[in-house]
Amino acid sequence: AGKEKSEDKKVLQVGTEATFAPFEFMDKGKVSGFDVDLLNATAEEAGYEVNIENTGWDAMFAGLQSKQLDIGMAGVTINDERKKSYDFSVPYFESTSMIAFKEGTKIKGAEDLKGKKVGVQNGTTGQFAAEAVVGKNSSSISKYETAALMFQALQSGDVETAVTDIAVALEYVKNNPDSGIKTVGDDKQFKPEYYGIVFPKGSKYKEDFDKALNELYDNGKYTEIYKKWFGK
Ligand code: GLN
Repeated sequence: AGKEKSEDKKVLQVGTEATFAPFEFMDKGKVSGFDVDLLNATAEEAGYEVNIENTGWDAMFAGLQSKQLDIGMAGVTINDERKKSYDFSVPYFESTSMIAFKEGTKIKGAEDLKGKKVGVQNGTTGQFAAEAVVGKNSSSISKYETAALMFQALQSGDVETAVTDIAVALEYVKNNPDSGIKTVGDDKQFKPEYYGIVFPKGSKYKEDFDKALNELYDNGKYTEIYKKWFGK
């Protein structure tokens, strides 16, 4: 008994896909971003330490399945399919899909994805949103391992459009003003979605993290982190 020393805290292993600014990206060799700040604050509130590794998207899910990872934190949208295999925290961010396109491409809305080459990050809700318009397994969709590779393909002209999460598309355009990449203005083309922290099915940590997240909503800490990254 007595005061808890930091070395007594359990270190939880976290996987992410760090080409997803502003949620997670590499900055001077370290994973940083909104998700990183939020996860650190949540873990601290819950009494844990976290070790965040840029595993990549597929390896993150594989690591959760095999329980080599305790947590996945990568702007992961909570959906019914994923809930069959993983547990999610309470939602922590509202998002939706957005279309980015190379200047000169004629596109005003989701329906215009038809007949265009579309880039997506493999296994993401951007892929599912694009497939809902142009058809599952459509040969017009190219799937990339990371969001960075998807944007590269858009920039080089390998694809004419890309479908990804709204904040990530806007951040890319902001950080690459000379790229000739634009976003389709109306953000209401696709359904709202909600991010959650991912745990292996039956994880004993979910409850502690839910409690801690709710505490951060109540005590203003969530708002503080939100403002740091999104400014309003
Ligand atoms: N939110 C999207 C999803 O869960 C994309 C996440 C990501 O690319 N990191 O599929």
